[in-house]
Amino acid sequence: MGETMSKRLKLHLGGEAEMEERAFTNPFPDYEAALAAAGLTTGTSEESGCVRTQSTTDELGLPFHHDGKIIHNFVRRIQTKIKDLLQQMEEGLKTADPHDCSAYTGWTGIALLYLQLYRVTCDQTYLLRSLDYVVNAIIVSGKTLSREERKTDRCPLLYQWHRKQYVGAAHGMSGIYYMLMQPAAKVDQETLIEMVKPSIDYVRHKKFRSGNYPSSLSNETDRLVHWCHGAPGVIHMLMQAYKVFKEEKYLKEAMECSDVIWHRGLLRKGYGICHGTSGNGYSFLSLYHVTKDKKYLYRACKFAEWCLDYGAHGCRIPDRPYSLFEGMAGAIHFLSDILVPETSRFPAFELGISQRN
Ligand SMILES: [Zn+2]
Repeated sequence: MGETMSKRLKLHLGGEAEMEERAFTNPFPDYEAALAAAGLTTGTSEESGCVRTQSTTDELGLPFHHDGKIIHNFVRRIQTKIKDLLQQMEEGLKTADPHDCSAYTGWTGIALLYLQLYRVTCDQTYLLRSLDYVVNAIIVSGKTLSREERKTDRCPLLYQWHRKQYVGAAHGMSGIYYMLMQPAAKVDQETLIEMVKPSIDYVRHKKFRSGNYPSSLSNETDRLVHWCHGAPGVIHMLMQAYKVFKEEKYLKEAMECSDVIWHRGLLRKGYGICHGTSGNGYSFLSLYHVTKDKKYLYRACKFAEWCLDYGAHGCRIPDRPYSLFEGMAGAIHFLSDILVPETSRFPAFELGISQRN
């Protein structure tokens, strides 16, 4: 990305001789000189009326008003140029490397630019554009690893972190598939059916006899029952797959996950969201939303009751004991959701109705 541009830039800079000079001569008068030309000094400008200063700065081409706000004319020139450059950029990106998903030279960087344009302009189309690039980068990166690992047929979208193909919701594939199935991600039907669904089914087949899931594809030990590793994370993927593909098997397996969490989900690791009792309690609330079965509301309430005796079970103290994902903030988040269970939402993971269009 950007290689052709830098070549063109070199041509602009001319031959060897001119390359000796590293910079252009700056044609602009410096601030003080510009002020003098305007007949203003820093001292008097404060006393002069705002209106008079504005017209003077405008006439003389000072790019900002007395109060530091950029003048309308300059704003318009910049806006016009941004529009023009964006068009050129979009055209140029058509031939950019589809596999470079980095922020530095790849698609994440482009997504960040659109996020910036949204921040500055509040124009929703920029936000959606940003999301498009992010989702696209996720799909391309999944396809690339799947091809490298020769799993295109079995698991068309494959992901790894620290060289491990994690399964869980925090660092793994079930969390990524869950996000790709969100209506807000606007993944097209064909990609959902031909890429996401078989990948989900691939993960489903890694299930242990107990109903729990491994932490990574290469791990055979049935030990962790956390949102980050195990059934409490995978259950969210299964529920979303049920909503999107309308196949009973997904709901059935989500219910099996719930049974595992009920039996093994009161964790010695503590009360947190990521690998604690609160995070596990959220799986019941979410399943209650889908099924309306009070059994799951009951389970959620009982896990909340366990959290009411915060600190009394001799649990391990997390590294960041008051944080949202490891500590006390997460337990409070869960308890507050129990107050209005029908609107509960796993923090930074479950998306709201407003996002569903
Ligand atoms: Zn965790």
